[in-house]
This record gives sequence, C-alpha cells and structure tokens, in this order.
Amino acid sequence: MTGPDPATAGAILTVDLGALVANWRHLAARAAPAECGAVVKADAYGCGIGEVVPALARAGCRTFFVAQPEEGVRARRAAPEAAIYVLNGLLPGAAPAFAREGLRPVLGSRAEVEEWADFCREAGSRPAAIHVDTGMNRLGLPPHEARDLAGDPLLAAFAPSLLMSHFVAAEDPADPVTRRQVALFAEVAALFPTVPASLANSSGHGLGSGATRALTRPGYALFGGNPTPGEPNPMRPVVTLEARIVQVRHVEAGARAGYNGRWRAPGACRLATLSIGYADGYPRGASGGGAALVGDVLCPFAGTVSMDLIILDTTEAPDDHVRRGAPVTLIGGALDIDEVGRRAGTIGYEILTRLGPRYARRYIGA
Ligand SMILES: *Cc1c(COP(=O)(O)O)cnc(C)c1O
Repeated sequence: MTGPDPATAGAILTVDLGALVANWRHLAARAAPAECGAVVKADAYGCGIGEVVPALARAGCRTFFVAQPEEGVRARRAAPEAAIYVLNGLLPGAAPAFAREGLRPVLGSRAEVEEWADFCREAGSRPAAIHVDTGMNRLGLPPHEARDLAGDPLLAAFAPSLLMSHFVAAEDPADPVTRRQVALFAEVAALFPTVPASLANSSGHGLGSGATRALTRPGYALFGGNPTPGEPNPMRPVVTLEARIVQVRHVEAGARAGYNGRWRAPGACRLATLSIGYADGYPRGASGGGAALVGDVLCPFAGTVSMDLIILDTTEAPDDHVRRGAPVTLIGGALDIDEVGRRAGTIGYEILTRLGPRYARRYIGA
C-alpha cells in the first residue's frame, strides 16, 4: 500500500503485479529466442517503478528502459543488477551522472556519441546504445550518419551494447511504414554485426524476427494495453481504479448538473458524486463520453469532470451499490484502459501515465 490511507482516500488504484508478470512472460515467449526487456518510463506507465521493476526483475527481466536519468536512478535501486537504458539520450554534461548510477544512455546524435566517447576515454569504457532513426524524425541518428559511424574509430572509445530504432505505427498492420522501417533497420544493423539490435515495442512482437531481433522493448502491453487494436486483447488487465461515492441525490426531469449546467436530466434521475477529478489525472476530455461501472451497470457521467469530483448518472444502477462511501469502477472490467482512453478522446497510454498521486495504491499478486 502506498499513498493516502485507503479508508479516507477518494479513490483506490489496484495494480496486479501477478498479471503484469504474466504479461511479461507472454511477450517473452513471443519474443524468444530474442530477449524481452521492459519499458518502465513515466513511473512504469503510472504503475510505480519501485513496485513494477522488482516484480519484473524477479520474473527474469534483465533489461529496462526509462525516459529520464532520474527514473533510471529509481529503477537502479529496484534492480541493482539490470541493464538500464535512458531513452531520451545524453544532455550536455550529464555523462558523469550516468556513470555514477550505472545508467546507459541511448545516444541519438553524433554530438551525443562524441560526448560519451570523450567521457569514456577519460573515465574508462562504458556501455551505451546507439539510436538510429528509421522514420520517426524524433530521436536517433539519420541512417546515413549511422552508416558513417559504423567504421568510425570513435566507437572503440566506448562499448556500444545495443543498436536500436523505434516503430512509427507498429500497431497498424495496414501502414506500409513498418515494413520500410524493418528493412532499413536491417540494412543499418548489418554494419554493426557485433552489436545486439532492438526494434520492437509492444505491437512489434507480432511482426516476426525482423522486428524482434535480439531484444524487445514492450511497455504498454505489460500494463494491459492491447498491442493488437481491433483484435481481442491477449494481455491481462493490470490496473483497476475505483472511486468512492461521497453524495447521492435525486433530481427532477430538466434539472441541470455540473459546471455551466451542461448536463440536463432526461427524466427523474439519481446522481452520485464521486471523489475523483481531473486533478487526479482523470481526463476532463471524458466529460461527454465517460462512464463508470456501478455493480455491472455502465453509468454515464453527468456533465463535466471537475477538478476533484465527477457526477455520475446512476439511475439505472442497482440500488444497493448506490450509497455514500460505496466504490464504483472507473477502470476495470468492460472499462479497460483502451476503452477509457477512447471515451476520453485520448489513448490508454495517457490514461495510465496520468494516474494520480492522490490515489491510495494497492499492489496485489506479488
Ligand atoms: C515508449 C517506448 C517503447 C515502448 O512502447 P509501447 O508501445 O509502450 O510498447 C519502446 N521503445 C521506445 C523507444 C519507446 O519510446
């Protein structure tokens, strides 16, 4: 248990570490003979680096990816033996901090490669990844710079331990960019025959050995997200979010609710006010399409999501579930993270990474 006392917290987040580990094992089996790593950036997709990383390390995960060095420090405490890569690269002057914490930068430009090589010439050779851009135009050396680097004596100054690139649209089988990226990456990787290669994110696990290469980097699917949108989700749900009812009220037909009176009662209605809002990371964009499960009944939001509160139309819900203090489900069951994202006009990734600090957090299945 972390965060506020569950007896007084407005909402309780449950993270099923057993399901998380089962998801990692499922992906590891798909990736084999490649190694399966784990992406735990953004506080392990909102689920908590301090709990997620040890659970995965115990299951056999040896390689972790974070976005920022500070996340790497937390991952390092949780997994002293693991290889930890920092995806966002090396900022000027940061090399000593990486070395101190045993973190491996993912070098994404010629300038970063030179800075790491210079540092290693002084301080001793250390591993780092090289990121090649195959279509994202976000991070990584353009392919022609990567080709030039292949024969460069600069590489002798440190220990390139991984060559990686990132998919633009691996979850969309119809997008031809994926095939082009696989081919381009294979061509560049052939110039670095002794360096293990990594390309696949969660959705890349279904794309064959040209994508899984030596090491995979799943994130979203570990936390229950569907890596194959439009097809049944093979992953187990990891996150459940329940908020508590603080008040119940009955309103007449035509009554309005919430800021600016955006919602209007279609008939006599029973409203329940939940102790959760956009300050908890629950998106205000869900005001129109959001819903919660009360018992097994899907109840729509009434009006806009407030900072700390959501009004729910519980008219159709079973009476014994609609009372002060009772929990309702905002994430879980039919409201999986992909569905919650859709209803909020965003993606499940954003739902996860915004999971707020006011929730009482319960970890099960460890
Ligand atoms: C976030 C990220 C991943 C993980 O992607 P998912 O879609 O969450 O599996 C892998 N590689 C890189 C470079 C990333 O930034």
